[in-house]
Amino acid sequence: MTLFDSPDFEGHEGVHSFYDEKTGLKSIIAIHSTARGPAAGGCRMWDYSSAGAALTDALRLSRGMSYKNAMAELDLGGGKAVIIGDSRSQKTPALFEAFGRAVDSLGGRYWTAEDVGVSPADLESTRKTTRFVAGLEGHAAASGDPSPVTAEGVFRGVRLCVERALGRDLKGVHVAIQGVGHVGGYLAEKLHAAGAILTIADVNQPALNAVAAKTGATIVPTDAIFDVEADVFAPCALGGAISAATLPRLKARIIAGAANNQLADATIGQAVFERGVLYAPDYVINGGGIINVAAEIRGLEAGGAFDGDWVATKLDRLAQTLAEVIDQSIAEKRPANLVADEIARARIAAARA
Ligand code: NAD
Repeated sequence: MTLFDSPDFEGHEGVHSFYDEKTGLKSIIAIHSTARGPAAGGCRMWDYSSAGAALTDALRLSRGMSYKNAMAELDLGGGKAVIIGDSRSQKTPALFEAFGRAVDSLGGRYWTAEDVGVSPADLESTRKTTRFVAGLEGHAAASGDPSPVTAEGVFRGVRLCVERALGRDLKGVHVAIQGVGHVGGYLAEKLHAAGAILTIADVNQPALNAVAAKTGATIVPTDAIFDVEADVFAPCALGGAISAATLPRLKARIIAGAANNQLADATIGQAVFERGVLYAPDYVINGGGIINVAAEIRGLEAGGAFDGDWVATKLDRLAQTLAEVIDQSIAEKRPANLVADEIARARIAAARA
């Protein structure tokens, strides 16, 4: 199979592979689209089973970033970098400097940032060899941890879905949160403050205890989170939470959470819809984080400071966009993920034209 026959190839503008003999860097940077602006998306370091698996991930993730950035109305396209390797044992500052040279060779067509397996300390090395890095501290445009902004967007999305599907506010609504890390933890606090009742699961016991102490949440074993008698299921851990195996177990009428790639495969969105469950498309509801990163890129490009008001305005607009997607899905009786995909593709095509 060649790149162009891959089921995950969707008109990507550029797919670049980089090898650095000295440091052992093996990286793929996929640029899905620069129609709306320079491609932006994080760098993931993962011990992929093969180069093919790394390519598939880069293709999917970069397309996802195009859609996410378009729905957040950012002047950014979609890209993603993957580094093939074990982030626990194969990281060196020199490797991330070599990665920076790879990013720099694209001349600003791609901006990198953190993702799974890559820390701010790694990106400090990357910044030595390229300026096209966001998500670092120590400068006026620095955006800091995006998680609180992501959580605020998800909180508003949950509230909207509860209004639309259940016709009520959050007081007394039962939300099951899978994963109480950075975003899930902030989300739990916001939901608790709004009067929601929480059940939480995580593989990290200290994180569970801390969130339960603040919010009075009930803790259940990780697998039991799918069986909770909740109104809302909020996936805030890893991708693929909604699958043919887990969907029949859910009691919730709403799925709305922070995780990327919540639907395990392309067919599951239809199954969610046919079950009468309202789904907030992941890359729309969780766009707060990239809005925060975009503010940093904007500041760096203009030589200015981080603009919190700009972020707040974009976040308000994102909430409206999610409402438009949900309302169109309800009115047209079609899965919300398909509605969102169509809008995102149309926006990218319009920018290209
Ligand atoms: P995180 O690593 O801080 O939190 C994830 C949590 O999920 C951790 O506490 C982890 O222990 C837990 N977890 C892992 N496996 C689990 C399982 N099987 N069952 C229950 N819990 C499990 O990550 P985060 O920054 O909070 O991001 C959460 C999700 O949201 C990710 O999918 C991420 O890609 C997505 N996301 C995050 C942001 C952001 O701003 N941080 C933005 C957009 C999307």
